[in-house]
Amino acid sequence: MLCPWFQGRALPWFLLIAAGWIQTAGASVSPSPETLAFQRSPHQVRLLLSEIESQFEVRGYDLQWAAAGSLLTKGPRAFRADRATRWQLRCFQGLLTVRELEGKARVFSTRGAMRVASPAGFVFLDGVAVREELLLGPGKSGCRVVNVLDLEKYVEGIVNAEFNSRWNADSVSAQVIAARTYALYQMRAARKAGRDYDLKVTIHDQVYGGAAAEDAASARAVRRTRGMVLVASTGKGRAPASPAPIKAFYHSSCGGLTELPERVWGGPYSGYRRASRCPFCKGAPKEAWKLRLTEKDLREALRLGAKRDGLEPGWPLDWHRRASQYRLHRVRVTPWKESPRAREIALVWRHPAGLKQGWMELKLPATRLRSWVGPARLLSTRFDASSARDGSWLLEGRGNGHGVGLCQWGAKRMGEKGNRAAAILAHYYPDARVAKLW
Ligand SMILES: [Zn+2]
Repeated sequence: MLCPWFQGRALPWFLLIAAGWIQTAGASVSPSPETLAFQRSPHQVRLLLSEIESQFEVRGYDLQWAAAGSLLTKGPRAFRADRATRWQLRCFQGLLTVRELEGKARVFSTRGAMRVASPAGFVFLDGVAVREELLLGPGKSGCRVVNVLDLEKYVEGIVNAEFNSRWNADSVSAQVIAARTYALYQMRAARKAGRDYDLKVTIHDQVYGGAAAEDAASARAVRRTRGMVLVASTGKGRAPASPAPIKAFYHSSCGGLTELPERVWGGPYSGYRRASRCPFCKGAPKEAWKLRLTEKDLREALRLGAKRDGLEPGWPLDWHRRASQYRLHRVRVTPWKESPRAREIALVWRHPAGLKQGWMELKLPATRLRSWVGPARLLSTRFDASSARDGSWLLEGRGNGHGVGLCQWGAKRMGEKGNRAAAILAHYYPDARVAKLW
């Protein structure tokens, strides 16, 4: 049965398949009840969708509402709206008020969280289809909206947001396993820390495209790798007693050599002992890049960054005044001993009248400079800097992203060359192995 609010919208792929409107033509899957049935995983992931907006509209079919705590209004803490209904939610001063917009016009409010789900499998949040259930509650500045859904379904919504379901099947499988592993790692960490959500849906974790980003190819990739995650290999061929997922980082392109997490985030992670050479991403979009920055661009990036994160050690308190009067004389890039990526950047400023009048050196880690200039502008920490005739600075670099773990464009090329998913993963995570946990 199709719910009335699906009319005029793009239908989810599985409804179309079930209705026989599209055929799952393709490599390995023919439509049969076994392959079309979605099997739930043992894990539900909690995604933070929003914590800023203070007003939402929720609608759905046979919505089931339940309050986690006590209600401030009269009535039962749980009830079911037995038809398609529309509700307005408002969060104000620690209070969540839910108001039915049509029909019975019910109103209830609480200082705790409300759970809402539909037997149809979707709840619509401001018109967007959201799978399974929503947890809504008053937050610091707006409503906290958390989507709770099956981990395997979540991974389906990652495929077309982080990479592309039309890429070679083995490269997609490898990336799906990495994405599932990353999610499971973050879920464990969040629960250990007592956080009320597991992952953000942005580049802070993994970009989640929601139900709208799923398609038949993403579903196939998730199904054929069901429950597979990367765990640290012991190095002796023996499996650890309870395999814990590694933090399976991945990035757009490595530029020739992947990186170890301690050189990016300052500390080691289990499952990363070696970097991998990667001739596969050469020529990928943005794999080789140039960025031109003026002295003013750099000064502004430093000013805003230092305001946000604090002064770097050794910087004089009046650094900005001096940087405004001096000229940027040199940008010194110091690479790691074992890696072509930059470890530290030193910006040497000197008085226009000459070195005798004064000079200043501002040092900072290359990862910090990348964060301050903007990771979408300064694409990696592997670069050289030179001054141009017009007084600006030209940064020429390789790779797009932090460089740790799987190189997405490299994985794509490896898949096209006939490598299986297991070989792609073994290449980019040489100190991990694939385990099937469910
Ligand atoms: Zn690469």
